[in-house]
Amino acid sequence: MKNILIIYTGGTIGMTKTKNGYAPKAGYFKSLLESIPALYKDGMPKWNLYEMLPLLDSSNMTVNEWNKIGKLIYDKYDEYDGFVILHGTDTMAYTASALSFMLENLSKPVVLTGSQIPLFELRSDGADNIITSLLIASDKRVHEVCLYFGGSLIRGNRSTKYSSDDLIAFQSPNYPHLAEVGIKINYNTQALIKKTDEKLKLHLLNNIPIGVIKVFPGIQFSIFESMIEKLKGVVIETFGNGNIPSYGESLLPIIRRAFKNGTVVVVCSQCPKGTVSLGTYETSNALKDAGAISGFDLTTEAAVSKLYYLFSSGYTPDEVKREMEKDLRGEITIN
Ligand code: ASP
Repeated sequence: MKNILIIYTGGTIGMTKTKNGYAPKAGYFKSLLESIPALYKDGMPKWNLYEMLPLLDSSNMTVNEWNKIGKLIYDKYDEYDGFVILHGTDTMAYTASALSFMLENLSKPVVLTGSQIPLFELRSDGADNIITSLLIASDKRVHEVCLYFGGSLIRGNRSTKYSSDDLIAFQSPNYPHLAEVGIKINYNTQALIKKTDEKLKLHLLNNIPIGVIKVFPGIQFSIFESMIEKLKGVVIETFGNGNIPSYGESLLPIIRRAFKNGTVVVVCSQCPKGTVSLGTYETSNALKDAGAISGFDLTTEAAVSKLYYLFSSGYTPDEVKREMEKDLRGEITIN
């Protein structure tokens, strides 16, 4: 029988009602799990619960919590066949992306899930998400960090939260789903990462100063200059396939200076679907000339966590630029 570790970090799934709104409560989650009879039926794996303290609303996640989760999986790797991480939905896509970079040569399933409605409420989506995630975490075809929610299994570093109130809250705009869950769990075996025999490596992250700038019509880039100077990595969410306003040419000298100072500027798109293609339009060509690099079809979540990972690994800015444009964990499509 398979043995799975459930790591409960907080999030709506285990929250209770307080006078200030939903919040997690230490020591309460075990009783919620005990009230789901399916978790004890034949066909389910054995599981243990590890409650990470303090429990968090996932808005409060930082690299410190990512390191704690990564370290726990690394330490317990030989004891368990798979891992289910229960997490708030707000930053689940960031944590999933970060863990994919932190856990190199993963050969067991790590499945993140949570819910939009707390388990104690009527109509909670939490029980199905946990039950199905436990079955996925027991499946020997999965060797990667993924996210299960509302009937779909998605690669973690391709996921993005797109709905704050639908029960299908996540999308994978640029990569096929890893499995669809109906009467059966139908795996898309072509899309899954192949198993490796290499030994698992854990990469811990440092709290690197990283920024995200979303371009909008009329943006005054000069206001952002002092901020960009302080950052090691900047993700620019541009229009369409990598375009920025070219009035006054104000951004380009800033990027040029930032690049000389060792800041890596990554161009992503505000369009969730599709890829950045620097040079297709005049308005994006200049970005490339100024030293920015293409994030192709990376989600912003994956771009941010990849920057954390590469800078924490001790790469120089030039090496970070080179690695950003490579596919490391199935996070990017490079044609
Ligand atoms: N604010 C909650 C969280 O991310 C939302 C959720 O879990 O759905 O922890």
